Amino acid sequence: MRVANPQNTDTTDLFIIGGGINGCGIARDAAGRGLSVTLAEMNDLGSATSSASTKLFHGGLRYLEYFEFRLVREALIEREVLLRAMPHISWPMRFVLPYHKDMRFESETPTSRLLSLVMPWMKGRRPAWLIRTGLFLYDHLGGRKILPGTSTLNLKDTPEGAPLEPRFEKAFEYSDCWVEDSRLVVLNARDADRLGARILTRTQVLSAERDGAEWRIETKNTENGERCIHRARMLINAGGPWVGDIIQTKVRLNSTEGVRLVRGSHIVTRRLYDHDKCYFFQGTDGRIIFSIPYETDFTLIGTTDAEHDDPSVRPVCTEGEKRYLIDFANRYFARDLTTDDIVWTYSGVRPLYDDGASSATAATRDYTLKVEAEGGAPILNIFGGKITTYRRLAESALKLVAEHLPGVTGSWTAGAPLPGGDFEVGEVDTLVERLRGDHPYLTEFWARRLVRAYGTEAAGILGKARSAGDLGRDFGATLTEAEVAWLMDNEYARTAEDVVWRRNKLGLRLGKDEIAALDSWMTSRSHSAPAAAE
Ligand SMILES: Cc1cc2nc3c(=O)[nH]c(=O)nc-3n(C[C@H](O)[C@H](O)[C@H](O)COP(=O)(O)OP(=O)(O)OC[C@H]3O[C@@H](n4cnc5c(N)ncnc54)[C@H](O)[C@@H]3O)c2cc1C
Repeated sequence: MRVANPQNTDTTDLFIIGGGINGCGIARDAAGRGLSVTLAEMNDLGSATSSASTKLFHGGLRYLEYFEFRLVREALIEREVLLRAMPHISWPMRFVLPYHKDMRFESETPTSRLLSLVMPWMKGRRPAWLIRTGLFLYDHLGGRKILPGTSTLNLKDTPEGAPLEPRFEKAFEYSDCWVEDSRLVVLNARDADRLGARILTRTQVLSAERDGAEWRIETKNTENGERCIHRARMLINAGGPWVGDIIQTKVRLNSTEGVRLVRGSHIVTRRLYDHDKCYFFQGTDGRIIFSIPYETDFTLIGTTDAEHDDPSVRPVCTEGEKRYLIDFANRYFARDLTTDDIVWTYSGVRPLYDDGASSATAATRDYTLKVEAEGGAPILNIFGGKITTYRRLAESALKLVAEHLPGVTGSWTAGAPLPGGDFEVGEVDTLVERLRGDHPYLTEFWARRLVRAYGTEAAGILGKARSAGDLGRDFGATLTEAEVAWLMDNEYARTAEDVVWRRNKLGLRLGKDEIAALDSWMTSRSHSAPAAAE
């Protein structure tokens, strides 16, 4: 990693505001096409929406009811492209959709309006044939080669039926993929860095103004207060929930484009069932939630849709949202959950393009890119998008960049593995075995955790260690000094929170004191080696 020069006045091609998945994905793509790039993130990489998603590479089955065929098709094709490029941090998952005749549409969807016109006696119910048709489209709309297709499942006397109420006798089962969202962001940033981009974390953009054909951008280092001026030919606003704030208060554009902030919360419980499949639960309010096996010993349930007015208000899962998710899940699980079963919650804010939809659930999940170049140097504002479509969004952004900057080469990221992802889909077990063979002191959990996080780079973190003691201080739950030092030197980690909630999820297993001890160790290490930790 390069060290930032506070007096930097070189003009780069692109200056990107925001180190979420969209900013980092664009930085990587642009750097690989030979553009000079600086990216500024005011906190940790992926610290906002991009670490708070449901963590699915999915086509979005429910968007079919909104006739969002373009988005669904693009996302479906993209699932396998991404899976191949990162077989360590993403993997296929099967989703079980229990069927019951009381399932209802959200009344606003185009499908529900159409159905109530032609079959008014259905009274808003989602018939089984319609779900089957949706799943048929889901199977065939785009490029499925690795993932198995839809099947019908008998829930009586099967492991999938065991945790559910007996009234659910039949289900559909289909495929989507899991992804470790915050690791996806960091791996894109690292690859951008490898290709020459400057990635500045803890760097807030205070203002950006046009100076002839260039942008003059002022940033502040949020750790030491140091200010710096940067110059760029084009500005990219990938501020996620802050996209509107950046337009209005940092760049001061006269723009009418709006963003709609919709909070989504998740709850985590101890593991609720023994198999490795997810559930897709449909509610009586037309919404859906997922229940997903999580971090080996836990279950993840989400999400909600709640209006969230101010991006500077940190999103949290409210008591009302906890209750909503528990009640929703209780309509399906045989065992009655209470809010006491919740061990952790997290929330994020979707920065959706304001398409004028009346409800938060109905607002489009597609992305919109808008270039504004009338006042001189161009700015590209990014609205909406999904984790699943980040690579395609970056390609679309680069097409627009090419209209303003000469010499931009063609797209290259499809098929290019992310760091540690240079192995075949399905080879994780082989990598785990090899790692345990070379390092017999690793438990199965520990080795698998390392391979899932770092892929082929896991061996480099362990180096020549012959025992756990050779990896330095033990912070608990298999987290060692060697791994934390590697994360600080290679993955921009600065605090314990960066490590235990974004580079991994060991926060679920570590106590408060252990996390505090890790934090003070990291602080003293950065003070003794500031250049390495930038
Ligand atoms: C509850 C929920 C569930 C979701 N589930 C899925 C899913 O399963 N699958 C899927 O594909 N998508 C999902 N999404 C959507 C996906 O998470 C988002 O579309 C995506 O993460 C948005 O990324 P982003 O880079 O635009 O925004 P962010 O990740 O929010 O990044 C923007 C960054 O800009 C930084 N920033 C803002 N202002 C400044 C400034 N002045 N200076 C410097 N930095 C600044 C912020 O700190 C932030 O890190 C979900 C979203 C939510 C909320």
